[in-house]
Order: sequence, then C-alpha cells, then structure tokens
Amino acid sequence: MHRGAVAEIDRSALLHNFRTLQAKIGHKPVIAVVKADAYGHGSLEIARTLVRNGADFLAVAFVEEAKVLRSAGIGGKVIVLFDQTDISAFFDLNLTPVIHDKRAAAAFSSEARKRNRTLPVHIKVDTGMGRLGFREDSAVSSAVEIMNLDGLVLEGLLSHFSEADLADRSFAVHQLNLFKDIGARIIKKTTGRVLCHMANSAAVFCLPDALLDAVRPGIALYGYATCGDNFGLRPVMRVKARVLAVRNVPAGMPVSYGRTFVTKRESRIAVVSLGYADGYNRLFSNNAEMLINGCRVPVVGRVCMDLTMLDITDAGSVSEGDEVVILGTQHDQAITADELSRRSNTIPYDVLTALGSRSRREYLP
Ligand SMILES: *Cc1c(COP(=O)(O)O)cnc(C)c1O
Repeated sequence: MHRGAVAEIDRSALLHNFRTLQAKIGHKPVIAVVKADAYGHGSLEIARTLVRNGADFLAVAFVEEAKVLRSAGIGGKVIVLFDQTDISAFFDLNLTPVIHDKRAAAAFSSEARKRNRTLPVHIKVDTGMGRLGFREDSAVSSAVEIMNLDGLVLEGLLSHFSEADLADRSFAVHQLNLFKDIGARIIKKTTGRVLCHMANSAAVFCLPDALLDAVRPGIALYGYATCGDNFGLRPVMRVKARVLAVRNVPAGMPVSYGRTFVTKRESRIAVVSLGYADGYNRLFSNNAEMLINGCRVPVVGRVCMDLTMLDITDAGSVSEGDEVVILGTQHDQAITADELSRRSNTIPYDVLTALGSRSRREYLP
C-alpha cells in the first residue's frame, strides 16, 4: 500500500546488528526471525541480506510468509514457528515445522511416507509461556512418540521465554532449567544431533546461560534490545513524511477533531501526510513529537486517519514539502521506537510493525 509515509530501511544497520549478535554468541547458528514482514521492515530484503551474510535459518510465523520468501527465490532453511495448516507446502518448499501437537505430527508423517521423503522437524516445549508446545508432564513421552513416526527426523527442540526482558530473571531461569532438563531427557532417547534453542533477543543479551545450541533473535536484528541497554545496536527503520501545508493562525484557534488543542498564541501549524492509517497511533494525539529542521516539535490535536498537525511556531522556517521525521534521526535529534512505545503504552515491536507495514519502503545499501 502506498500512503503518505516512507520507511527507510538501513541494510548496513541490519548487518551491523547481525554481526553484533554473532560476536555476542560466539558464532553459534542464528535463526533470524523475520515474521510479520520482518517486524515491518519487509521480509524479502531483510531475509535476502541475512541469508547472504550467513544466517543459518530464517523463521516465520505462517506458511504464507514462507511462500513469499520462496517465490522470491530465497533459499536456505526456513522454520515455520506456528502454522501447520498446509502440510504439503512443507515438502514442496522445503520448510521446517515446529510441532506442538501430535495430530499435525501424524499428518506430516503420513505425507512423508506418501512421498517417500523425510522431513526435519523441531518440537516445541511449553516451559511457562502458556502459548504453544507440549507441557512438562507430557513433553518427553510426546517427543518420543513423534520421533518414532516414520519420515520425521528430530532436528531441533525449542521453548520460548515469556519475560527474559525483565530485570528480575527468576522466572526466565526457571523456564531455562526446565527446558534443559526436559531437553536432556528427550535427547537421551535419540541418536541424531538435536539443536536446542530458546533465546530470543533479550535472552541473547541478558541471559548468557540461555544461548544453548542456537539463538532465535528478532527485535535485536532491527536495532532494539528490550532489556535495559541497547548494546550498540542500531535502529534499522527510519520513518518520514512530508509537510502538506503550513498555516499561520491566530491565538484561540482549535486544531483537529474534538478541539482537544486550541492555540494559545499566534501560531504556525504544519499539516503532515501521515495518520493512524499509516500506523501512527491515535494515542500520539497531543502526546508525541516529530522532527523538522532538526527540532523536536509537538503533535497538536488529534491524530487523523491520513494527517497529523504539528506546532512549528518555534521551529524556524518550514515550507510545504519539507521532510518530517516520525521515527529515527534528523541532524542530532532522534526519536526511537522505545520513546514512541512509552508514549502509546505499548512495546517497540508494535510501533515498528504498525509504522513499517503501511509505509512505502526505501532500502538503503
Ligand atoms: C517472535 C519470536 C522470537 C523473537 O523474539 P524477539 O523478542 O523479537 O527476539 C523468537 N521465538 C519465537 C517463538 C517467537 O515467536
């Protein structure tokens, strides 16, 4: 969809973040998470860059996302984290399922037998996320049953943290210990090599015991770390729009729906070509800043569907067509996804996917 905003995607920042992660983990395999169109950054370009530079696996949420990658000629190993509705696509496109129920396992096995093929699979253990996976009491017996099905080869075992980003890591450590224990009991029953992986971005940086055999970062690739420091990561996305109009208005003028802002002085108001249909949350109404001429200027009045107003009275000379930065840097000022997420009571993931998925993307080398 081509709307009023542009998302610049900086591939050298992506590569810098990937190298930063690799240095941190000592060159274990990286399963690069590119679900949700690579967190709004565009899965094709992101996946291409990562695979070309040595990512061992890509991970997506749904088979449809994997189809997009394969149609564009992206090879390598692709793990489908959640979805197993289209069993035959896994064989046709060489995809690796994450198995979290026995019925799907049986369906994969019978398709493998029909095709006289083997399919590598990963099995998911629920250690406290409470979302998908075999729970503690049945994990070992279920994994053994699945391993014994014809045509399936156990390549990996995984679990997912629910709060590795918190300063209090006690529950994360509990989950990790449970996973290590269950994993060891499953691996005892196999002869092949099994890759155990659990670490999301926060765990990679803040829970070194969780690195195991491979890591599964998402948000860190895009420049955010979520557990305190940012560890030298660089934001990959910058979102900009244009000034559509500049208006000189007297004091006492209401701005936008509901008259939630009324000018207190003679003011200059810029109308910007971006609104909540571009993923700019309506909670930013009277509650965020954008960059123009390298100055922070306040959003005034309610964010509209396609437009947002700024008070540029103190921002020097501004003309129609000037660049407005919503996320990222301009001169020496920066607005991060952390800042926007705090202002809209959400997390950087939500800010990036919302803004990135609706903007026209431009890729920088
Ligand atoms: C999204 C996701 C990840 C990546 O998490 P980040 O916090 O973005 O690093 C890893 N594993 C699973 C199962 C996920 O759903």
